[in-house]
Amino acid sequence: MKDKGILVVVSGFSGAGKGTLMKRLVSEYDGYALSVSMTTRPMRPDEEDGISYFFVDRATFEKTIAEGGLVEYACYCGNYYGTPKAWVMEQLQSGKDVILEIEIQGALKIREQFPDVLLLFVMPPTLEELKRRLTSRGTESEEVIDSRLRRAAQEAEGIEQYDYIVVNDDLEECAAQMHSLIRAAHQRPACRTAFIEEMRRELKELAKGEK
Ligand code: 5GP
Repeated sequence: MKDKGILVVVSGFSGAGKGTLMKRLVSEYDGYALSVSMTTRPMRPDEEDGISYFFVDRATFEKTIAEGGLVEYACYCGNYYGTPKAWVMEQLQSGKDVILEIEIQGALKIREQFPDVLLLFVMPPTLEELKRRLTSRGTESEEVIDSRLRRAAQEAEGIEQYDYIVVNDDLEECAAQMHSLIRAAHQRPACRTAFIEEMRRELKELAKGEK
């Protein structure tokens, strides 16, 4: 019997490079499914509906919450963000490792529901680099950038609740490190239940035969 996939949450300050890192991880390594969240935030010029996010209005978002269609959701800098439930559960059942790129409140809600989740926090190498990445994106106003930097200060208080931090200095190296951490997480007994059960069953049969 095949073990189920594991759930991996990736958080990090806005501008830490999570999006690029996730794209690299899924293109470089097999077996990952990247969850597409639902949001009420306006679409950026380089984004596509259904690929970057499912862009919806507040009423649709609130209806989805009421119908129990989200695993978790949170409000971030004035907009709703949430993880669609059905797709995530399907991918886990099929053996894929599902990556959720979500902020800290959502991460902690996921841990309550899925205690075996792996929580990773992506850090920029320096604050200067974070500011540079946030402004060079050119998609947000100064006001939005300020609000995201203030939010980063709050999020920094919660880093110890994550299992590992990964420093996104060199993209290739960081994706490789993330992949190794996920591979290692697969070897936790809670993630190898099918293998352990099979071994136990065979051992019991062997013991019976030897009586
Ligand atoms: P952005 O607007 O830069 O795409 O995302 C803003 C923040 O929302 C990021 O920290 C991102 O990880 C987080 N986020 C994206 N999707 C979700 C989601 O489904 N749930 C939660 N809780 N946070 C999300």
